[in-house]
Amino acid sequence: VRPLLLVDVDGPLNPYAAHWNRPPAGYQTFRLLPPGWVAEERRRLEVLGFQDSLVEPLRVCLNPSHGPALAELPYDLVWATAWEQDANQFIAALLGLPELPFLAWSTRVNPDGVNWKTHQIVGWVNGRPFAWIDDEIGDADRAWVSDNHRGPSFLLRIDPGTGLMPDDFVALSDWATKFRQSPPIG
Ligand SMILES: [Mg+2]
Repeated sequence: VRPLLLVDVDGPLNPYAAHWNRPPAGYQTFRLLPPGWVAEERRRLEVLGFQDSLVEPLRVCLNPSHGPALAELPYDLVWATAWEQDANQFIAALLGLPELPFLAWSTRVNPDGVNWKTHQIVGWVNGRPFAWIDDEIGDADRAWVSDNHRGPSFLLRIDPGTGLMPDDFVALSDWATKFRQSPPIG
């Protein structure tokens, strides 16, 4: 069984915290109107009394080489992003990835100090080995996963100022290799 790789968009693929005047080598800027963003912006504009304003496209920086690099990893890829199904329509196409399964979140709130995705991911993977790349992973998430997930896991925080780096691909590849060489648990 190949491990799953749960992929966040904003942070790992779209390094939103980078202070770039223009995208660095390999990155391209896209202006997108995913339905999830449009709905969110409409709500925001309505609250401000600008319900007649047009929604501006969302600026996203992507590195098209990340698609093939992710697809080459020995994992089954899954979107674990607030983009939900919009990741397939907008991000996958721009990165040259096929349509992927995605997590549809039941909540975006978590009261107990862990990321709002953490409980839902552990429920969704249901014991299957997984790695997770996200800019919001912290120690509380690692602790919660190790207490509540019965299989191997690898939580890799990605700096939203840089996005995925070559070292991250090496770390993911190494973990999958190590996991396959170790005897099954249980
Ligand atoms: Mg993120």
